[in-house]
Amino acid sequence: MSERTILFLPGDGIGPEIMAEVRRLIEHLNRRGLGLLVVEDVVGGAAIDRHGVPLHPDTLEKARRIGTVMLGAVGGPKWDSLPFERKPERGLLALRKELGLYANLRPAFTFPALVEASTLKREVVEGLDLVIVRELTGGVYFGEPRGIEEIGPGEKRAVDTQLYTSSEIRRIARVAFELARTRRRRVTSAEKANVMYTGVLWRQVVQEVHEREFPDVALEHMYADALAMQLVREPRRFDVIVTDNLFGDLLSDEAAMLTGSLGMLPSASLGDADQNGRRRALYEPVHGSAPDIAGRNLANPLACILSFAMLLRLSFGLEEEARRVERAVARVLDAGYRTADIHSPGTQSVSTREMGEKVVEALD
Ligand code: NAD
Repeated sequence: MSERTILFLPGDGIGPEIMAEVRRLIEHLNRRGLGLLVVEDVVGGAAIDRHGVPLHPDTLEKARRIGTVMLGAVGGPKWDSLPFERKPERGLLALRKELGLYANLRPAFTFPALVEASTLKREVVEGLDLVIVRELTGGVYFGEPRGIEEIGPGEKRAVDTQLYTSSEIRRIARVAFELARTRRRRVTSAEKANVMYTGVLWRQVVQEVHEREFPDVALEHMYADALAMQLVREPRRFDVIVTDNLFGDLLSDEAAMLTGSLGMLPSASLGDADQNGRRRALYEPVHGSAPDIAGRNLANPLACILSFAMLLRLSFGLEEEARRVERAVARVLDAGYRTADIHSPGTQSVSTREMGEKVVEALD
């Protein structure tokens, strides 16, 4: 197995269409000697159709062995009536869980050509470039006890438990600080230490990790509600934001909308390093399988292509190639090419395939 092997899981709906454009890019980069190897398999609805389950054990085994996964999207109306445990989305959740992907990275970046797509004023979002690092496998979505119980006639009680251990906080803090070292060296840690014990521990542990291991990175602590305000008021002040599962869920959606379009948003989910010292990782666009436009060559492949750029940077250390891909995307947008979802008057409409071709042309 090559050092630069990627498990390709196109999935459902527009997944195969946008992933085909990543393939096009890979073939181009390989002609210049990058040596990327692609192993392809099925997940989600495609896996249900082929194997009867949303994630076949062989696919999971491949994902574990290869460690670097690129995914399109899963789900669609065809599988909507299946019981919860057999739905396509369970395949993705199982993959994240089995690979131990505890750190979700979502960059929010405004391309100059798309500044007008944001609902915020140009002067607020122009030049925005931040990443939210969200803890993905702990906190209130998983803490026990949880559930709903009857406590009397016509009365119920619902419980969720917010729970974090210091090691869970330590490992996500390290991801954030390491990432900040590759960027502008600033981390903002968000919690509610004023009203929650998990917030008190979170602040304490992040501070310790900072002092012991990352004194070269600037750290500020902020209450999550204050950060939610700052994110729409002055988002450019942030570089890397690290926060828990619940706050991260909300703040990353808020940050995503600063930039305008769903078809432009990449993501990465990272786990611990394997025996070769490389973090297990899954890269995917933030959007879903868009069944309403699937199979029509209309989907925007840029979120998927930008996720692939994250893969080059974070999994293979190919910083220069990652930047080249990101610059190529910026150039294509500057030249006025737009898929339907980001189209505006005066720009030129292109299909999924044409957008992929334009990016490849702009690489050189
Ligand atoms: P969605 O993100 O698929 O689509 C929302 C809207 O955005 C649609 O109008 C769609 O056409 C548009 N859109 C999304 N991506 C686009 C792109 N790249 N280019 C152009 N337009 C794009 O969300 P949804 O409609 O709520 O869900 C559809 C299916 O996707 C469901 O089955 C859902 O469970 C699944 N889903 C999967 C993931 C994932 O695989 N990670 C994430 C979210 C939703």
